[in-house]
Amino acid sequence: MQVGVLALQGAFQEHQKMLADCGVKSLQVRKDLQLEDISALIIPGGESTTIGKLLQEYNLFKPIIRMAGKGLPIFGTCAGMIMLAQVINGSQQPRLGLMEICVDRNAFGRQVNSFEEDLNIPALGVEPFRAVFIRAPYVTDVSVNVEVLVRCDGKIVLVRQGKFLAAAFHPELTGDIRLHRYFIENCL
Ligand code: GLN
Repeated sequence: MQVGVLALQGAFQEHQKMLADCGVKSLQVRKDLQLEDISALIIPGGESTTIGKLLQEYNLFKPIIRMAGKGLPIFGTCAGMIMLAQVINGSQQPRLGLMEICVDRNAFGRQVNSFEEDLNIPALGVEPFRAVFIRAPYVTDVSVNVEVLVRCDGKIVLVRQGKFLAAAFHPELTGDIRLHRYFIENCL
């Protein structure tokens, strides 16, 4: 088994390191045919408008949506969460739209307002999870099909809908592999 990491922009190498620490092989994904060789896909943080443009340039939009329809599990972090959202409040920018969530971009403030927070995420056990927020989005609305896994300051920042998982923060930056392991164990 290997997990693909969309490698067009952003912190894809850090995600690969986390997967390696979970004992899982990874593959940098830039071509549609590579989607056939992976058991799951991670969409890293970065800039969602840029990722959207690059997905179009690399002709990856339709292939990813098609594979998701066939059951490919996908984990989106930060900009990756925005790509997964059906609704991006106030924006028509391209997105995969696979999760029944509405998000606000840059919702916690600008870069200077990036912050870290210890979150209690019951799904990951009792140890708090250090979450790094960098110009992060949060979820403003979810459908009944979406499980809210944690809130920060009352805002929804981690959600799951079946095989899809989305985090507003950057779990690849702290060395805590529990969220990647959760994805592999529960969404695949
Ligand atoms: N602010 C970025 C966006 O709107 C996301 C930031 C990130 O991924 N760290 O796409």
